[in-house]
Amino acid sequence: MAKLWAMPWSFVNYFNRAMLDGIRPVRQTEVTMATQDTAAGARTDLDAFWMPFTANQYFKQDPRMLVEADGMHFTADDGHRVLDATAGLWCVNAGHGRQEITDAVARQLGKLDYGPTFQMGHPLPFEFAERLTHHLPEGMDRVFFTNSGSESVDTALKIARAYQHARGQSGRWRLIGRARGYHGVNFGGISVGGIVNNRRLFGPLVGGVDHLPHTHDLEHNAFSKGQPEWGAHLADELENLVALHGADTIAAVIVEPVAGSTGVLLPPKGYLERLRAICDRHGIVLIFDEVITGFGRTGTAFAAERFGVKPDMITMAKGMNNGSIPMGGVAVSRGIYDAFMHDRAAGPAIELFHGYTYSGHPAACAAGIAAMDIYEREGLLTRGSELEAHWEKRAHELASAPNVIDVRNLGLIAGIELAPRDGAPGQRAFEVFRRCFDDGLLIRVTADIIALSPPLIVSEAQIDEIFSTLGNALHKCA
Ligand code: PLP
Repeated sequence: MAKLWAMPWSFVNYFNRAMLDGIRPVRQTEVTMATQDTAAGARTDLDAFWMPFTANQYFKQDPRMLVEADGMHFTADDGHRVLDATAGLWCVNAGHGRQEITDAVARQLGKLDYGPTFQMGHPLPFEFAERLTHHLPEGMDRVFFTNSGSESVDTALKIARAYQHARGQSGRWRLIGRARGYHGVNFGGISVGGIVNNRRLFGPLVGGVDHLPHTHDLEHNAFSKGQPEWGAHLADELENLVALHGADTIAAVIVEPVAGSTGVLLPPKGYLERLRAICDRHGIVLIFDEVITGFGRTGTAFAAERFGVKPDMITMAKGMNNGSIPMGGVAVSRGIYDAFMHDRAAGPAIELFHGYTYSGHPAACAAGIAAMDIYEREGLLTRGSELEAHWEKRAHELASAPNVIDVRNLGLIAGIELAPRDGAPGQRAFEVFRRCFDDGLLIRVTADIIALSPPLIVSEAQIDEIFSTLGNALHKCA
């Protein structure tokens, strides 16, 4: 395997910017793509798969292939075991290879492989939606199913606008997002999202969007444990946007309670409460994008519970069925749902013109119900809070490691921010990522921020292993 340090730095840097910004890297030189041994022994050309959010040309010269997974570990194609400190992409909350989920999916495919949910029904989505409501904030007990986090976000934005219309406020169509927000890759999500390079190549976006400032500030909040003390006042920027645009033009505000994709940005104490109060004051729908924070990541089923702030809608995906089958959902408050359902005499008229062929797919729902069984039986939705003290202690021991300029944590999430190399942002963290992978640990990096979010089955000994392997890598890459 070619070592990162053999790579031209300018290219590696470009790759890291691509990870944060979504730029497609371009190399000047002709490259020959690798072939890969498959499990069946045949040699596969790697050209055909256009990989998402990946420097395709770089990866295909030096692939990092995972071929098996079980519990807390992946196995790479060269046989080395890799401890998963990222739950895949924040989704495999109950750990890999859960037989119960496999069996439930196989059984369901054998019984009813597909069933439409347009003007028809089958039992699974009704059952799964009902199960989800046991863990959602009180009164948020209606669930619309999608196939991903991106679709959940665009669904929530559409519901918000349609809801304002349904309650006679059709002038409210503006949507407010936040700088450094990530809400997936569809047009609504990139419009309210705050990552410049995820947006700029794609022409005119959804109109009527504005953004709050983000809350990340190392000058005030470096090395916070849990929620930072400083920054609640940043929510008041919403009042300024209301003053600028007029409350009667604003449909919804969407934020991640904890932003993951731009490097673990934690909500300052009081910030989400203030957003809630301003939204209430002005009739604005508050959406929490819980695609990564849902299903136990912050130590409660949803971050809304952890922070004691109830939004009007929650988007979800990832941990919903333990990452086993693409699935997402939007939970809405009863008030929003009822605004669409007020006319019982309407007959077969459709209340919301929106939905996906695979909304409530039987196999995805079966996987979800099995995942909920596991989460509930093993207490995984609250395990993050039990492990948080140990996690926090070990994470903050890295404060003295070379080049660390911040450590932040909450639930089973940690962000470790490194000082960028002069003129080469992202290079240092990517080098640490490669070193960790070779040493048997999967971490995730965004520019110079390392994000950790292991499966919720992680043991204290594995937490120790995560931070000692990472600490060694930080020293080796100093
Ligand atoms: N919203 C948030 C907060 C996310 O972190 C993500 C993905 O990481 C998404 C939306 C998009 O989800 P998906 O990749 O399933 O479309």
